[in-house]
Amino acid sequence: MPSRPRLFLLPALALCLLAVIGSARAPAEPSPTVSRPPASTAVGGVVRETAPSPDVVGTAAGVAHRSGLLGFRWNPCRPVTYRVNARGGYRGSTADIRSAFRRIGRITGIRFVYEGQTRRIAFRTRLDPRTDITVSWATPRQVPLLRGAIAALANNAVVRNRGIREAVKGQIALDRTTPIGPGYTLAGPPTWGQAFLHEIGHVVGLAHVGDRTQVMYPTINRDNHVLGLGDRLNLVAVGIAAGCIPHSWR
Ligand SMILES: [Zn+2]
Repeated sequence: MPSRPRLFLLPALALCLLAVIGSARAPAEPSPTVSRPPASTAVGGVVRETAPSPDVVGTAAGVAHRSGLLGFRWNPCRPVTYRVNARGGYRGSTADIRSAFRRIGRITGIRFVYEGQTRRIAFRTRLDPRTDITVSWATPRQVPLLRGAIAALANNAVVRNRGIREAVKGQIALDRTTPIGPGYTLAGPPTWGQAFLHEIGHVVGLAHVGDRTQVMYPTINRDNHVLGLGDRLNLVAVGIAAGCIPHSWR
């Protein structure tokens, strides 16, 4: 048994917010200005507050990374488990979330294992210790970071493992009040499927990019329903192609 690497937990690493634009049914009132999500300043504060380490690579909403990568990855040679709290989600939403994990898994080569339900709420309660990634629905009242036009957010806990930043936990919060349609489609107004893919993208180490046709663009829109070439290349880069992480912490 190798000695455990020194542990640096950065609970707010890579906090990313996802805004929705081009929503078919815009909120009745007050109409949010979406190009600059209002929570971005609060997010910066949270990142500084909970992750004072210079390892922080947090992305404020709307900021694109040139590399497209956040600088950490999971050990692709171990299964990555997740649980979903379906409370507040639309009918069939858990199946759609599982579909998103399968799509990301096919490209990265990471084996995502659905372990069932959880009662935990990401960004509100302690994470479920039984699983690697917690996905849950919430209202902005429950998770204030979801206020405004924010549809979803994600972050990770990352350890520095002999020069590699290894993700060991992830969480995704989905704003159940976001007025977008369910599931996946190829064109038209944004739907939840895009948000699932985008947030799982963050959890596996993808940053925002500047191309609005990619799922990792900071907003889900009419033009990024499908994982694009850039998305796919970055997913490959954080997956099995990068090799196993020796002495994995998980
Ligand atoms: Zn994002």
